[in-house]
Amino acid sequence: MGSGVAIVTGGGRGIGRAIVARLAAEGYKVVTCGRGARPDDLDTAVDWVQADVARPGDAERINEAAGDAALLVNNAGVQVEKTVTESSDTDWDAVVGVNCRGVFNMCRAVLPGMERRGGSIVNIGSISGRAADPSMALYNASKACVHGLTRSIAVDHGPRVRCNAVCPGWIMTEMAEDAFALARDPEAARRDALTRHPVGRMGTPEDIANMVAWLASDAAAYVSGACFTVDGGMTAAS
Ligand code: NDP
Repeated sequence: MGSGVAIVTGGGRGIGRAIVARLAAEGYKVVTCGRGARPDDLDTAVDWVQADVARPGDAERINEAAGDAALLVNNAGVQVEKTVTESSDTDWDAVVGVNCRGVFNMCRAVLPGMERRGGSIVNIGSISGRAADPSMALYNASKACVHGLTRSIAVDHGPRVRCNAVCPGWIMTEMAEDAFALARDPEAARRDALTRHPVGRMGTPEDIANMVAWLASDAAAYVSGACFTVDGGMTAAS
């Protein structure tokens, strides 16, 4: 069972919401955040901070609301479907701002406390950070950055802090639905994605929450600096 306070960024919907629910069920006191107002259907036991992880000062505000966080899950992320030549400065700032700067901001805010008390960080990377998804240049680069930060934090802040990443494949959330919707033939794209899954189905947010819960647990005490693919075997088959 988990104990202490867990911060989960972007827990209002999708994968983050499933991580919040799983960690609360494990016994953590959970603090989560998002840029908008608290979702009406969020468990009342979960604390909500309206915050943007990319904005200066907001990570410190989330950390203060949490008090002594034992676990940080950097889940908040955004995607822009463009090549390099299609991307604007605004696209770069949006994607790198949340996916890289946001992770950096949050880690920098929690690490001094975690180094005193001990703690664990789980970053949500992506299989896109390992092999390039077409027309996702900035997203691919930003997730590779997340994997690199994961290894550096594990090396620089051990032994008191463990840091790992989970690299999801297709997980059926608003983000994944948006990506399918942009395909020329969304239904064909969906069928094609399914055929590339050896396990015979797409992922659920709970599949990722299960991995996060294990990485946070004492069962993973010897695990640090690793990036775990959770994609139903999709990249093994490619
Ligand atoms: P969603 O778009 O469904 O949810 C993203 C969440 O992050 C929302 O709650 C959003 O809330 C929050 N968020 C976004 N930007 C910020 C910000 N600046 N500050 C605080 N919160 C923010 O995405 P998913 O659940 O699908 O994705 C979660 C993570 O998993 C992301 O890091 C994503 O890159 C990664 N991932 C997802 C995959 C998939 O197939 N779904 C595959 C691989 C990786 P709000 O907009 O209200 O702020």
